[in-house]
Amino acid sequence: MTLTAEPAAEPVNAAEATPGGAILRRQRVRESAARTYARSFPIVPVRAHGMTVEGADGRRYLDCLSGAGTLALGHNHPEVLAAIRRTLDSGAPLHLLDLATAEKDDFTSALFASLPAEFATGAKVHFCGPAGTDAVEAALKLMQTATGRRGALAFTGAYHGMTAGALAVTANVAVKAPLPSGGETTRLPYPYAYRCPFGVGGERGTELAATYVQRLLDDPSGGVLPPAAMILEAVQGEGGVVPAPDGWLREMRRITAERGIPLIVDEVQTGVGRTGAMWAVEHSGVVPDAMVLSKAIGGSLPLAVVVYREEYDGWLPGAHTGTFRGNTLAMAAGAATLRYVAAHGLAERAARLGERITARLREAQHRLPVIGEVRGRGLMLGIELVDPTGEPDSCGAHPVDPALAVRVRAACLSRGLIVELGGRHDAVLRLLPPLTITDEQVEAVLDRLTDAIEAASAGEGAR
Ligand code: PMP
Repeated sequence: MTLTAEPAAEPVNAAEATPGGAILRRQRVRESAARTYARSFPIVPVRAHGMTVEGADGRRYLDCLSGAGTLALGHNHPEVLAAIRRTLDSGAPLHLLDLATAEKDDFTSALFASLPAEFATGAKVHFCGPAGTDAVEAALKLMQTATGRRGALAFTGAYHGMTAGALAVTANVAVKAPLPSGGETTRLPYPYAYRCPFGVGGERGTELAATYVQRLLDDPSGGVLPPAAMILEAVQGEGGVVPAPDGWLREMRRITAERGIPLIVDEVQTGVGRTGAMWAVEHSGVVPDAMVLSKAIGGSLPLAVVVYREEYDGWLPGAHTGTFRGNTLAMAAGAATLRYVAAHGLAERAARLGERITARLREAQHRLPVIGEVRGRGLMLGIELVDPTGEPDSCGAHPVDPALAVRVRAACLSRGLIVELGGRHDAVLRLLPPLTITDEQVEAVLDRLTDAIEAASAGEGAR
């Protein structure tokens, strides 16, 4: 996702002159200035299948954004559509708060079967509001209730959602009273080797990042009150596709376990095969206290849950409610997706394809010095774009080139490829193709992408 300062008066986009242009114009006039993807991709999609999106102007695009990592099986996968149709035809109620339904029961079975066994055994699930941010809020609140503490430990580069303060302005005393007041978020360094927070990079930087956390928490003058939880992503997505080394994750598990701090792993973007394992925590073997899940678990429809160890199940009835917790269609679509990913080995396929794409992009790095780093895990990949003429930092990383990244995104779009940016200065091209991407599509993505990087670094799109 890109968050950039836009000019107050929005320019009329050339795409508004194309078929579908009237819709784009009305969107610009009527929708909020906070529009994001709609600015980067002035397309009016009319049809989509798998990885291909067709715009109202008749153009076809390969979609490497996949609803910000939501569409594990791509657009309109036949098995997902069949599950939705079956549910519609069955006459099942579509909206049911948190009542028991066969669809929810089936989804819960599919979800628990997909989770690491050690975590799933005896775990509890809470269905919350349907967005990832809802699940994050719920998990933090759950751990605040369980620990009687309020603060959280979180990391540089983290992205966990956009809601703020909904509960702060809610007046229900019975709901608010069990939650402790005070506390804050303590920001800790994430092991981002390429732009190492300690300026040393590599394994040494990772070690320092873990040591810092431990020392800070044990320092009686470190300024950190005992927190309600630590929350982290095993691969940071919006933060620029930064995979945490497995050893560092195990260190975070050890440090939190030894100090009685619940560990919440945010698998909203990394889940359902994306990183080459069903869940990203499986790479390290870490067993968290809670996992927050959304995006792909709803099979393209809105659904979010927190799964947590039974010992934290300290909420009173009604302590965390919400109207949209019983989306029958999302549960049917989600169960079909979870089962399809497992039955077809799509996580393993994501691991293989991720390695192939990474190797090809690293080869391209030799002739395209604007590619500072290629990194990621499975089909969650990032390409950090740099100015190779700029002074490298102490880790050898050249300065980021966000202007080039914007031009590459546009050059990709004009070549029929949807690629979004992320990272600290929006200088990272992010690849999140569906796990069903074919070998031919991999080649087409690589051709269009490297061609776009080459053209943009040679000046295409520059004013
Ligand atoms: N956590 C992570 C890791 C995410 O990537 C996102 C969304 N990109 C969220 C939480 C928030 O999800 P939502 O946008 O559905 O609120």
